[in-house]
Amino acid sequence: MDRTTPVEISREGAHDVAILWKDGRRSSYAARYLRLACPCAQCIEEITGRPLLDPATVPEDVHPVRIDAVGHYAIQIMFSDGHGTGIFTFDRLRELDREDSDSPSPSGSPA
Ligand SMILES: [Zn+2]
Repeated sequence: MDRTTPVEISREGAHDVAILWKDGRRSSYAARYLRLACPCAQCIEEITGRPLLDPATVPEDVHPVRIDAVGHYAIQIMFSDGHGTGIFTFDRLRELDREDSDSPSPSGSPA
């Protein structure tokens, strides 16, 4: 569970979000990347997983204005474009860390 347990959630730079995980990994997320990854029913079609959000409608400088804890499993982010229904579970956030390459790749396979 350490991989998906945050010990610290903070801002990085002007707009980005950083999470320090219990396993020592530090993830940082560009603000707009998080907005585009919003998992709510307005942004992703629930049944099919089809993206409903048109990235062209999201301002380049979108950023979180509020970050609230949701129980012990997620955070809810209110973005500067007025969108705040997305709940980002810690599991999901860890998946969104694209540079997370902790798991060793099988030897011989190209990266
Ligand atoms: Zn959304």
